Amino acid sequence: MSELALFGGKPVFDKKLGYGRQYIDDADIEAVVDVLKSDFLTCGPKIDEAEAKLCKITGAKHAVLIANGTAALHATCFAAGIGPGDEVITTPLTFAASANCALYCGGRPVFADINPETYNINPDSIENCITDKTKAVVAVDFTGQAVEIQRIRDICDKYGLIFIEDAAHSLGTKYDGKPVGSLADMTEFSFHPVKTCTAGEGGAITTNDDELYKKLLLFRTHGITRIQDWMDKPSEGGWYYQQIDLGYNYRMTDMQAALLSSQLNKLDMFAARRKELVKCYDEMFNPIPEITVQKEIPQSDTVRHLYIIQLNTEMLKGGRKEVFDALQAEGVGVNVHYIPAYFFPHYQKLGYKMGSCPNAEKLYERIISIPLFYSMTNEDQNKVVEAVKKVICYYRK
Ligand SMILES: *Cc1c(COP(=O)(O)O)cnc(C)c1O
Repeated sequence: MSELALFGGKPVFDKKLGYGRQYIDDADIEAVVDVLKSDFLTCGPKIDEAEAKLCKITGAKHAVLIANGTAALHATCFAAGIGPGDEVITTPLTFAASANCALYCGGRPVFADINPETYNINPDSIENCITDKTKAVVAVDFTGQAVEIQRIRDICDKYGLIFIEDAAHSLGTKYDGKPVGSLADMTEFSFHPVKTCTAGEGGAITTNDDELYKKLLLFRTHGITRIQDWMDKPSEGGWYYQQIDLGYNYRMTDMQAALLSSQLNKLDMFAARRKELVKCYDEMFNPIPEITVQKEIPQSDTVRHLYIIQLNTEMLKGGRKEVFDALQAEGVGVNVHYIPAYFFPHYQKLGYKMGSCPNAEKLYERIISIPLFYSMTNEDQNKVVEAVKKVICYYRK
């Protein structure tokens, strides 16, 4: 076994391979350029086109494109009526936005622990966190695997809670044969460049509920409407509109919507390749005793956004930091998803206690995300596995 690059050996990759990246083809470029030559740079036909495609993909009745995934989460909390004193249950093992969205509305995120095998929020811990202040659950399809949707649906129905699904990772995933996006009360998507489909920046919410849809639309554009039925008095003329709620300017541009629309045409192709890469990684890592791979529930037909290896650190001489640094030196684009949200100073200042979600905290110490994206080649993948094996061998007890 050759020496680690960290200590002067030859790295596995000459040029660093990122952990995720977008795939843009000529059709994407053409779609954006066409918008630039057209009459509408915003509020144009590309918004409707991409929303219609999202409805078709998810089976949802309504889709609302919005500036980014964080704005989408903010919109869901607004539409759910979250306000001061309300509690919103979510997972700590997520990007900060899944919890911040409750804070934006004056609510308080409450962190429920994860299932240590699937890494998704545990429905039993959701139920344990419910108080008379609980209004909603933001359940994150972590890495792309669907949460236990049926159990969360039942809990939300039992306690009268709004079920928000953070599907930033899980576009294309199915639960019990049904696509994510049509199952929760509202589902949020992100189109950041590391996600399965991109708009540069972008997000969306899907819902089957007409009332929630109306609130989401208002929220995207200042709370302003031109729809007569929504106004409290007759229109004064062709110029007339009313601001009937407090919203923001969270609109997506038509350039972004055109890019997204073109990317959505490739979703099946993106999904198939991601599934193939995940299957291959699983097969190659399963026999390695120092590594645990993420377990999947049988209901989830997953389009994975992230691939995570869990280190069985008790079998290694080095901890996660040593392995992470060594992989980075080998040229592997590694990352950690995520630092538990309540570890951050902002949450500590708000009074959140360390130790409240032991499964998430323990997992955080042991995980590393490795490259997973549509355009990575089989050779790239073999080299990632070679680098992981090289580093694990070195640190093996
Ligand atoms: C990416 C992401 C979001 C939204 O991110 P934006 O960058 O605002 O689009 C929300 N939740 C999770 C879990 C994410 O990974």
